[in-house]
Amino acid sequence: MKTHVETKRLALVDPFGISRGTSTEKFNTFVEIDEGIGEAAPSTYYGECRETVETVLPLLLEAVEEDPFAIEASHRKMDELLGGHTAAKAAIDMALYDRLGKRLGIPLYQLWGLDPRRTCVSSFTIGLAETEEMLRKVRAAEPYPVLKIKMGQPNDLEQLRAIREITPKRIWVDANAVWSPQEALYKIDAMAELGVEFVEQPMPAKNVEGMRWLYRHTRLPIILDESCRVSSDIPALVGQCDGINIKLMKSGGLYEGLKMIHTARAHGLKVMIGSMIECSVANTAAAHLTPLVDYADLDGHVLIAEDPYQGLRLENGKIILPDGPGLGVTPRA
Ligand code: MG
Repeated sequence: MKTHVETKRLALVDPFGISRGTSTEKFNTFVEIDEGIGEAAPSTYYGECRETVETVLPLLLEAVEEDPFAIEASHRKMDELLGGHTAAKAAIDMALYDRLGKRLGIPLYQLWGLDPRRTCVSSFTIGLAETEEMLRKVRAAEPYPVLKIKMGQPNDLEQLRAIREITPKRIWVDANAVWSPQEALYKIDAMAELGVEFVEQPMPAKNVEGMRWLYRHTRLPIILDESCRVSSDIPALVGQCDGINIKLMKSGGLYEGLKMIHTARAHGLKVMIGSMIECSVANTAAAHLTPLVDYADLDGHVLIAEDPYQGLRLENGKIILPDGPGLGVTPRA
């Protein structure tokens, strides 16, 4: 089995802000397993960084099975070796599925029996910034029909009003866990008046009672992201939200991502699939699952100035899956 691990610097088109901070570049680590490729986009919020990913990848790769069909066994052995480290595991998971699809000569959506025409429209994310800067980004997002707006600054409602004044587009809001229950209720009420469709993670994951209270009283659907990492988190979220946001970097890859989709459906929840700032490798992997979900936020590769790979395309926001085998991702010439 041939393996290769390499970290690449990904400069962003614009500084990207959420309630926890702003970044101008990312260092994502790419792993190759035979002809398969995967990407890790670690997040310090979930306890990973470039150094942890680079440290654990060689160890985790020793747990990988030679047999391209043995994906479950590879995951079980990785989990026995090391808990957590889900971004590193996600990179391996993607490379394993990519290798399997390439050996079979079929794209991943076909491996799973999914209809590639049923992909979602992806939102385009407007990061947290000064109001003028957010308005500039909204204007620049002209080709995208759905905007996901990062909120959480003290003047966020005024910012949203200013954005609504210049665009009639569909809007989703992500507060990244910063509001209190009362503040969330008040702001979400006002956001409903502005035509926002739903709100993501209004308050911290640990405020379970707050979330239950808000869910009973609020007018808009609530999607939980930071509260939901893996499928076993989902049963406890019933009564706190209308849906969950899956990210491969939280779940440890497509294998657990698929389980999360089915677990959420069994609990009557909506499903969104999102991403960290990931280039076309990880975003294309996630995009192969979108025929199964309600909402997608897979624009990370658009936020990167020079994506080293190409795969999914967004055509007026609609996700177009590549039809090459496996992930269908190729290095950009
Ligand atoms: Mg989110």
